[in-house]
Amino acid sequence: MSKNCSVSPSRFFCTKCGKEGLTLQRKKGQQRGPRHLKKLYCIYCGEEVNHAEIREIGGYDVEDFKQEYQLGRFVNGNRIEIKDLMDCSNVDCPFNVNGKCWNSNYSNDCGHRIMKEVDENE
Ligand SMILES: [Zn+2]
Repeated sequence: MSKNCSVSPSRFFCTKCGKEGLTLQRKKGQQRGPRHLKKLYCIYCGEEVNHAEIREIGGYDVEDFKQEYQLGRFVNGNRIEIKDLMDCSNVDCPFNVNGKCWNSNYSNDCGHRIMKEVDENE
């Protein structure tokens, strides 16, 4: 593979359904940083959804996206930053990554979360 070409392909994965969408050619110099999200039309979802961009070189690959998607880090198409994730002390939980709960979309009800709002009339 030549590194001298003026464009490089970017693959895009839908943050809602997790499927791969269009591959776009980005001109060098127009490339965004790693973990960039781009709003594209998803043929599976039938609407415009943020897609995670994966470049050939970029420090963010398909496995990274799949981990983020499967653990539930995307909420309404936005990636929750690591610093904004909830702390988790359950080291056996598969959603616990380095002490942070990656299940931001609450697809997994682990029962360990401490909710910020408590119903006082319980
Ligand atoms: Zn989709």
